[in-house]
Amino acid sequence: MSLPIHVDGYSGWKANERPLGFELDGVHHRIYAVEDQWYSPDAQYFKVRADGKTYILRYDERQDEWALDSAFDGAELFQRPDVEFVTVGAEAIREAERRIAGCEACRPAHAQIPFDFVLADVLDKQGGLEFVLSESARCPNCGTPVSENTPVEPQGGIEVGGHLVSQSV
Ligand SMILES: [Zn+2]
Repeated sequence: MSLPIHVDGYSGWKANERPLGFELDGVHHRIYAVEDQWYSPDAQYFKVRADGKTYILRYDERQDEWALDSAFDGAELFQRPDVEFVTVGAEAIREAERRIAGCEACRPAHAQIPFDFVLADVLDKQGGLEFVLSESARCPNCGTPVSENTPVEPQGGIEVGGHLVSQSV
């Protein structure tokens, strides 16, 4: 499980560069030590010390996106009072996939709402929720992996917050 974060002082593959700090929910955490660093096939990981605590930061090179992992003290930052985490099961993910016509990769001009709006509609849940997919979702049109935040095009329009947000043409 991970949360998207903003990281200072790191702009990709350069020598002697390291994350200097990260921001989550408007709170800045200064990093004063990088204790470890390793790679997976699709991401780079940093074990860092900040606020006297230990966090794991994940850098996705392809997406150029940072995330905070829930390992070590990161778990504390996941417990935010205003956000409820909802794990989305396979059945709901398949249903949400059936409700989309395309994604930002194949239908860039029409993919305008994030996939989690569709999940909220499938689960009939609104507001203050962070969806965690129990398995990966894919665009039914082009097969590209879709995350909670990927812009998608709904099939024939869906109801979000009581009004129709998008209509397929
Ligand atoms: Zn697609």
